[in-house]
Amino acid sequence: MEQTIQNILADKRFYEMLLGFDREIAETAHEGRCQRCGAKLHCGSFTRKPRGVPAGLGPEQCERFSFCCAARDCRKRETPSSLRFLGRKVFLGAMVVLISAMQSGLNPARMRRLKALVGVSRRTVLRWRDWWHSAFTESPFWGAHRALAPAATADLPASLLQSFDGAIERQLISLLRFLAPITTGRGLLQAI
Ligand SMILES: [Zn+2]
Repeated sequence: MEQTIQNILADKRFYEMLLGFDREIAETAHEGRCQRCGAKLHCGSFTRKPRGVPAGLGPEQCERFSFCCAARDCRKRETPSSLRFLGRKVFLGAMVVLISAMQSGLNPARMRRLKALVGVSRRTVLRWRDWWHSAFTESPFWGAHRALAPAATADLPASLLQSFDGAIERQLISLLRFLAPITTGRGLLQAI
């Protein structure tokens, strides 16, 4: 399991695939209209600096797709959901999910490997786990979906990951799609 997770987190093709999904979501959002005034939307993407991304990926991997209302007196920002960026976390969503899902404890050897691989500290991983077990489980979003992993709240996000079909990579993509609605706006993900 740990080796599989490390392979996914080091796999450039995996990040390219997530970028492709985000592009599709952004293209659909761009065809929409400003929710406040109904004007067209202009591109207004901004740059994030995700940590732990494998070397050799293009600068577009740091781009958070976003739009601004074209009307000069409105300029409302519309940021579509994302399979890469989970709220304001500095690590990519895939890392937050996979590393939090490592079930069998965070022993020192494993933490050293994670630190070398994606630069994440034990403190950060513990904070992620807290988030899954408090802010996430107490949210209306989880309240509406808890039937997916009814008996295993304590094992989140591993239990949720396992509720999706397929091999681990496919499960992860399904889970990131599932979480997409909470990747935008304020609220749930501010608490991390
Ligand atoms: Zn507007």
